[in-house]
Amino acid sequence: MLDEIKITKAIIESYLKDFNKYLESDALICGAGPAGLSAGYYLAKAGVKVVILEKNLRPGGGLTGGGMMFNKIVVDEEGKEILTEFGVSCEKYEENYYVACALETLGALVYHTIKKGAKIFNLITVEDLLIHNEKVSGVVINWTSVILANLHIDPMTMRSKFVVDATGHGCELVKILEKKMGKVLFTTTGGIIGEKLMNAEMGEKFVIENTKEVYHNLFVCGMAVNAVFGGPRMGPIFSSMLLSGKKVAEIIKEKLK
Ligand SMILES: Cc1cc2nc3c(=O)[nH]c(=O)nc-3n(C[C@H](O)[C@H](O)[C@H](O)COP(=O)(O)OP(=O)(O)OC[C@H]3O[C@@H](n4cnc5c(N)ncnc54)[C@H](O)[C@@H]3O)c2cc1C
Repeated sequence: MLDEIKITKAIIESYLKDFNKYLESDALICGAGPAGLSAGYYLAKAGVKVVILEKNLRPGGGLTGGGMMFNKIVVDEEGKEILTEFGVSCEKYEENYYVACALETLGALVYHTIKKGAKIFNLITVEDLLIHNEKVSGVVINWTSVILANLHIDPMTMRSKFVVDATGHGCELVKILEKKMGKVLFTTTGGIIGEKLMNAEMGEKFVIENTKEVYHNLFVCGMAVNAVFGGPRMGPIFSSMLLSGKKVAEIIKEKLK
C-alpha cells in the first residue's frame, strides 16, 4: 500500500537535506545554460563542492532552441571534443563544423553534471548578492514563483567562496552589482560595456579570452562575458559556451588550492 504522506515526506526531507548541505559551497553558479552546466561539470569533476541555481523549471537556457527553433547546435573541433566527453553524437558537416542535437546535448550536460557531483536547484532565482569586506560571498535567493507572483516575501541566502554569473545575455548578477555599487567592475569602464553586433569568429574567441573575474570573487562565463566586457554576439555556435564554462572551472579550481 502506497502512503501519500510518506511520498510527501520523502520529497520534503530529501530536498531539505540537499538544500541544507548546499547552503554553503566552494562555488555557486547562477544559470544552468550550456556555460553554467559545463562549469558545474568541470568543477565537480575536480572534486569542488559546487551548486547551480536555475530560475526556470527546466535547465538549458538558450541551448534547447538551437538556431531560430531548429533544435540543432553547431560546434567547432574544440567544442566537439567537449561534446564527445559528454557522450553526445556529433555529425561532421564540413571541416571544423559539427552538428549536434540540442536536446541530446542538454540531456547529456544535465546528466553528467549531476552524476559528477554538482547539485542543481531549479525554480530558484538569484535576486541579489551577499557582500562582505567588498568581496562577493554568496547570493540572495527566492522561489521564482514568488517573484513572478510579485509576492512581498523576504528572500534567503546561500554562501559560497566563489560565485559565477552564467546568466547569459542578461548578465543578471553583474547588473545587480553595478546597480548597487556603481562602476567597480574589472572592465575598461568599470561598468557593463554591452554586447556588440554579430561576428561568430570574433565572438567565440572573445568569450573564451574574457572568461574571468569581474569583481572580487565574482566570475562571468558564457554569453554574460560578451555582455559585460563588450564582445560581439555569435549566434547558435556553442563551442565557446562549453569552453568558457571549462575555463572558469579551471580558474576557480586554481584559486581554491
Ligand atoms: C532569448 C534568447 C536570445 C538570444 N540571443 C542571442 C544573441 O543575441 N546572440 C547570440 O549569440 N546568442 C543568442 N542566444 C543564444 C544563446 O543565448 C546562447 O548562445 C547560449 O545559450 C548562451 O549560453 P549561456 O549558458 O551563457 O546562457 P543561457 O543559455 O542564456 O543560460 C542562462 C541561464 O541562466 C538562467 N538565469 C538567468 N537569470 C537568472 C537568475 N537571476 N537566477 C537564476 N537563474 C538565472 C536562465 O534561466 C538560463 O537558464 C539567445 C538565446 C535566447 C534564449
